Amino acid sequence: MAKLVIANWKSNPKTSADAKKLARSTDHIGVVIAPPFPFLSEVGDVVRKSDLGAQDAFWSDGPYTGEVSVNQLKGLGVKYVILGHSERRRNLGETDAMINRKLKAVLGCGLFPVLCVGEGPEFRRAPKGAASFINNQLKLGLSGVRNVKKLIVAYEPIWAIGTGLSDSPKDAARVAVMIRGRLGNVPVLYGGSVNGGNVAEFMSLPEISGALVGGASLKAAEFKKIIKAAE
Ligand code: PEP
Repeated sequence: MAKLVIANWKSNPKTSADAKKLARSTDHIGVVIAPPFPFLSEVGDVVRKSDLGAQDAFWSDGPYTGEVSVNQLKGLGVKYVILGHSERRRNLGETDAMINRKLKAVLGCGLFPVLCVGEGPEFRRAPKGAASFINNQLKLGLSGVRNVKKLIVAYEPIWAIGTGLSDSPKDAARVAVMIRGRLGNVPVLYGGSVNGGNVAEFMSLPEISGALVGGASLKAAEFKKIIKAAE
């Protein structure tokens, strides 16, 4: 499998039995399953080929009620950590400064941070505005980070997440080129309403290194189509 596919399950499914069933049925090399924290351990036990991802991580152990530290995640076998998802930035008040601290902790632990960036609907038809917004997210999120060898960037235009309105593969590729122009040769995934019908076009572009998938990763049959397209 040449491209990376990350399944962001968000706060789904409801039970650990459903989580294990879904993970088993989509277990594949090149796939990262990012279940909610309570299911990480059990999903880690059932997958043989997929890697384990987390949807967030805190930068420290210690007195931080409700948080889960990078060290704890590493102990569970987590390899990839999604950071700065727009749902956390927009709905939970996560700032670039917080994302930057988390990212440094993830790198410090030897894990792979998946830094989510992407413009809101206000820039949908304004490529210059979108580019400067994304550049600013990269600048702040990566402030003080010198070694980007383990960094993965996920370009996720906010207006495309969970809406059924995916970006055009060409536009996503253009943004991926811009991100590499700034950071060098880092993998850039696309995320935003990827499904079994549109995935092939994204995966066919050399500029796009894979996909970050939300809703479609919860439907085994649909997600299998995405995995196949990424092979
Ligand atoms: C996401 O939440 O990262 C995402 C891309 O969601 P969806 O695939 O549902 O648009």
